[in-house]
Amino acid sequence: MLNIAIDGPGGAGKSTIARAVAAALGIVYVDTGALYRTIGLYVRRHDTDPTDEAAVAALLPGISLEIKYEEGSQQVYLNGERVGDAIRTPEMSHYASAVSVHPTVRTFLLDTQREIARRTAVIMDGRDIGTVILPEAQVKIFLTASPECRAQRRYLELCQKGITTTFEEVLAEMNARDARDSGRAVAPAVAAEDAVLFDNTGMDLEQSVAYVLDLVKEKTGITPPRG
Ligand code: C5P
Repeated sequence: MLNIAIDGPGGAGKSTIARAVAAALGIVYVDTGALYRTIGLYVRRHDTDPTDEAAVAALLPGISLEIKYEEGSQQVYLNGERVGDAIRTPEMSHYASAVSVHPTVRTFLLDTQREIARRTAVIMDGRDIGTVILPEAQVKIFLTASPECRAQRRYLELCQKGITTTFEEVLAEMNARDARDSGRAVAPAVAAEDAVLFDNTGMDLEQSVAYVLDLVKEKTGITPPRG
């Protein structure tokens, strides 16, 4: 089964690139950040401190998560409810990062992620896909770009969604989240030893997708089907 792992900090373009690569190759795109965001949403709704591991762990048995693909895009269901854009706010970015530090949360999500990749050809994006979730992935990419470039992309994304914020706020929040994600004890956001480091500062989507497709071809011989 073709498994492609794409890790890296926020705003590097992982999801946009992975979605386009999945479409080109006819495989499934799995956004694992959405799972951590959904746990963050549940924790927020229960007025629980996301940094309190025992309190968060006590909520986990009440959570049932399902990933479904509807019209080609991933939807996460939380206890039967489609979470939609409720997980895409800056507040949920913060909650996701805070809950993702806890080993109990990471263990809770492990099987869901591995099971999809076992059954289906996937490109999966996250922070620990190449190191922990899919250590056997045939292609591993650690994608990054300068903090300013990443913050600019994220800022534009939020503006497009009608969320009021400033570039400075986004940059500060992103730096804090990256520091926590890469500095945590369990499954930190670091490149796997056998990952290809890809800095796409200044590249557009088309160039980034072409780079990844070339890499997939080089590592596996697989190319996009014609037509
Ligand atoms: O990728 P996204 O920005 O949606 O991820 C939200 C947060 O979830 C990240 O900042 C990170 O703390 C956490 N995460 C993680 N491991 C993953 C994916 C996301 O810890 N595989």
